[in-house]
Amino acid sequence: MEIAFGPVPSRRLGRSLGINNIPPKHCSYSCVYCQVGPTDVQEMTPRAFYPPETILLEVSQRLEAVRAQGETVDYLTFVPDGEPTLDSQLSAAIDALRSLGRPIAVISNASLIWRPEVRDTLGRADWVSVKVDSVDEATWRRINRPHPDLELPDILDGIRTFARIFAGTLVSETMLLADINDSPASLTVLGDFLRNAGISRTYLAIPHRPPAVSGVHGPSEERVNRAYQIFCELGLEVELLTAYEGDTFAFSGDLRRDILAITAVHPLRESALRALVDKSGGDMTLVEALVEAGDLKPVAYASDTFYVRRLTGPDT
Ligand code: SF4
Repeated sequence: MEIAFGPVPSRRLGRSLGINNIPPKHCSYSCVYCQVGPTDVQEMTPRAFYPPETILLEVSQRLEAVRAQGETVDYLTFVPDGEPTLDSQLSAAIDALRSLGRPIAVISNASLIWRPEVRDTLGRADWVSVKVDSVDEATWRRINRPHPDLELPDILDGIRTFARIFAGTLVSETMLLADINDSPASLTVLGDFLRNAGISRTYLAIPHRPPAVSGVHGPSEERVNRAYQIFCELGLEVELLTAYEGDTFAFSGDLRRDILAITAVHPLRESALRALVDKSGGDMTLVEALVEAGDLKPVAYASDTFYVRRLTGPDT
């Protein structure tokens, strides 16, 4: 198994060099949507996996190879096929990687954040993402299928505590699953929690690749838009991660590309879309063509029409 891979394009992190600090698949969760497959070893006590020196060596070599190809790296990101904070030497690995002069990100399921030493470890990173799919006990158990000794209230308390002390950028990620956690009631209590915790930005995702449990799939465009609007109405800064991250573009001045770039992140209200089209000197025939081609979808919400990117999940 390669410890260092990529860089892969990430809308959130730019060119992100991935670090797999956990062998597949050791995790405290066994999420129904996990794209790595079922959890082989479910555990919740941090322990040693790879020595920090090995991680530093492999990441240094990968960085050197990337540099030799004339490419750049914006972030070093712990994003293993399992839970990165299960690694009891993650603090030491982060400290060792500091010598490489790149910001460090950790994408965590947050299940161990109730442990002070895990909060201390995550606090060493520059950017941390915590997974919060539900704040309802039964739904959390149904989606994340946690280790039996984990307790949701402890995890939520740990997130609140971490949010108060973390000096870097803290974001959350929620995987939307049709008919499981996408109801307005469920999203409202989740959004309330995230807002009160002080999470700076929330991301809504859908499964892109075949999940661990068949039959689990993301909601329709209408419901993704509804989830987005509910979070916005709660005052959260929210973005969609529903298009492949490598399929999102920077603004280019090209109307087609710009519409696709914006709608990959935010549903566009029809009036805003028309204003964008007018500003470019174009007309709505381009939008009609994007709808016809299946790239965009108009959806109704609260007596308005929003345009969203067509979802690319396997069952949507
Ligand atoms: S936390 Fe991540 S790695 Fe673990 S089971 Fe869930 S999706 Fe898979």
